[in-house]
Amino acid sequence: MHSATTTVAVTESAGLPAELEQLVRGLALADGRRVGHPGHQVAEAWVAEQLRQRGLEPYQGEHYALPYVGGRTRFTNFVGLIPGRDQSLSPLLIGAHYDSVIDAPCADDNAASVALTLQVASRIRPGQLRHDVVVALFDAEEPPYFLTDSMGSIRFYKDQRDRRGFHAVIISDLIGHDVGLRTLGDDTPEAIRRLVCVLGAESHPALPGVIETTPTPASVSAIALLNSYAPDLSDHHIFRLHHHPYLFLSCGHWPHYHRATDTPDRLNYVKLAALTTWTTDLLHKLDGTELPRCLSPDHKTDAFEAASIARALPPEVLALLGLATPRTRADVDRFVGHLFRETFELGFVD
Ligand SMILES: [Zn+2]
Repeated sequence: MHSATTTVAVTESAGLPAELEQLVRGLALADGRRVGHPGHQVAEAWVAEQLRQRGLEPYQGEHYALPYVGGRTRFTNFVGLIPGRDQSLSPLLIGAHYDSVIDAPCADDNAASVALTLQVASRIRPGQLRHDVVVALFDAEEPPYFLTDSMGSIRFYKDQRDRRGFHAVIISDLIGHDVGLRTLGDDTPEAIRRLVCVLGAESHPALPGVIETTPTPASVSAIALLNSYAPDLSDHHIFRLHHHPYLFLSCGHWPHYHRATDTPDRLNYVKLAALTTWTTDLLHKLDGTELPRCLSPDHKTDAFEAASIARALPPEVLALLGLATPRTRADVDRFVGHLFRETFELGFVD
């Protein structure tokens, strides 16, 4: 019985990069999916169909579509649910935005995270977890709606959520690309290429333990960082404001960020598959972890962050950046300063 289950899992994961690529190509069309533009309607139909194919229950009412209005503009979040064994518990939420910033594919921003979210949903069966899993594909994350009252995740939180709160939230954005450093270019070492940043572990004292006991697959390494290093880059903002435990996964900015060159052929689907597996594992771990409501934000994670960097990057790679193995907050500050100078555009607005 056990070995049969294992065989199925291995066969599935062998096909996961191809499945993710197919999903990214299905959503990241040439016209984009900017709010109010024709491509947005195409994306809406696609997103609803993907939730239907996975057999998710509508989160609310009879449809996944949860429309709302902001000014004279109409928006739509799409939200499904995988029922857990105890519906009296607060649900887990996994989410990503599906709109695009320009009329272009915007594959990394954010079709890759939509694909991950859908494939995580495919991997969790009804009744498998104790908590319900809310699968949320948010509208209007991009400017000019970013952090306004029309932002999909903010409106979901204010007007569309049920009253059970959230056990924990995982949001992803910009997760399909390899990390490359400006000065090293094509010579960026593999250990850096496969990095993903996980922000927000300070939002609950149990989260560092959850991350530490959920090993990443070989093709990705996670480094934990304070959200305040890159404040509220995406849909986790509203959940952080309301003191829900959250994790935000991102590979940061890259040269194709918010450009027409952010196309499906430039993504690393093996890395995206590893992140899909890891996110699924994180949800399982969070499901089994007590996370009592905790209103004092920003638990001390200095040593945990330093250790995560040391685990992801061997001393010879850190030496290439002119850094020693980090141990203190000042060391993590130096590492992040270096990483951001080498990868981020000016400013942090998503
Ligand atoms: Zn964006």
